[in-house]
Amino acid sequence: MIDSSAIHRILEGYDCEHLSVATIGSHTALQILKGARDEGFENLVICREDMEKVYSLFGVADEILTIGDYRQVLEREFQNELIARNVILVPHGSFVEYLSPGRIEDELFVPMFGNRMVLEWESNRDKERKWMIHAGLKLPEEFNHPEDIDRLVLVKFPGAKGGKNYFLAADPEEFERKIRKFGRNGEFTIQEYVIGTRFYPHYFYSPLTDRVELLSMDIRYESNIDGISRLSHILQDSMPDPSFVVTGNLPVVVRESLLPQILEMGQRVVKASKELFSPGLIGPFCIEMVCTDELEFVAFEISARIVAGTNLYINGSPYSQLLYDEPMSTGRRIARDIKEALALNALDRIIY
Ligand code: AMP
Repeated sequence: MIDSSAIHRILEGYDCEHLSVATIGSHTALQILKGARDEGFENLVICREDMEKVYSLFGVADEILTIGDYRQVLEREFQNELIARNVILVPHGSFVEYLSPGRIEDELFVPMFGNRMVLEWESNRDKERKWMIHAGLKLPEEFNHPEDIDRLVLVKFPGAKGGKNYFLAADPEEFERKIRKFGRNGEFTIQEYVIGTRFYPHYFYSPLTDRVELLSMDIRYESNIDGISRLSHILQDSMPDPSFVVTGNLPVVVRESLLPQILEMGQRVVKASKELFSPGLIGPFCIEMVCTDELEFVAFEISARIVAGTNLYINGSPYSQLLYDEPMSTGRRIARDIKEALALNALDRIIY
């Protein structure tokens, strides 16, 4: 892993009057770029040719660097070019997927917003579960042996992109039949399927203020499960296998009386992260959870970076409006943290 002191030395050489907030052109890049500009920073987007027009048409980027392949970002020469432009990289879901958590930790020496150690903790299912247990979150049951399945379960595969190929099974026989059909005999997780309402709260933790903020919330729209639910009475005899591929996001607010639980879960996840991998989680994160009819939250995943559901709130959300009284997206909140760290001469507390 690249030593954080090496990154901080690079940061010390930066011209702080001309910092450039940069990201890869996909996922939440529009919001990150606009947020940087709103906070007075220069910005830059690195994208493939097919995405270039998005950033030029929306006019949110000061500079567009076009590359043939995202892995080029890790080339030494390219990274030096970014450093020459005083770049601070902001990671997002596609950024992590394209470059891979391991290569980001080992090869990316451009200063990056947040603690890069977190990427390994969110992408490795065992570590992620350890983190969630340490935070005292209620989790779905997991079954180590398929023959123990005694309720509806969701079978998940490692590194599945947005739930691709996940399947449901109600008993060991259904599991065996489907695992053969999906042809995956390797690693998988068998997890209790929690029935309730899903919520994906978007939090932000800044070590500068030591505050966990709830900025917004969404529900993911997933195909084909959300399509099936509209037709379930017609499809009774010919129900297709449900799948969980994310296709969009819906805005949501939660019953106000449930906010204490949601806020506390965010605080506990941050506290546990500091105990497990100091300095812990920095910046945006999301806990994927289901609220049961007992009004209890069961958490099934942590995303330890900006999530795509925040794109609903480029102009702020009901929650961020209460906190800031100005349009505060998660992208802008990241830039605000950089600005505040700069004023305190404390960039090394949020950039690793
Ligand atoms: P994940 O890859 O963990 O984000 O899961 C993809 C989707 O599967 C989620 O957005 C949920 O709709 C669904 N899901 C995952 N785990 C569970 C669970 N334990 N109970 C109910 N739904 C789940």
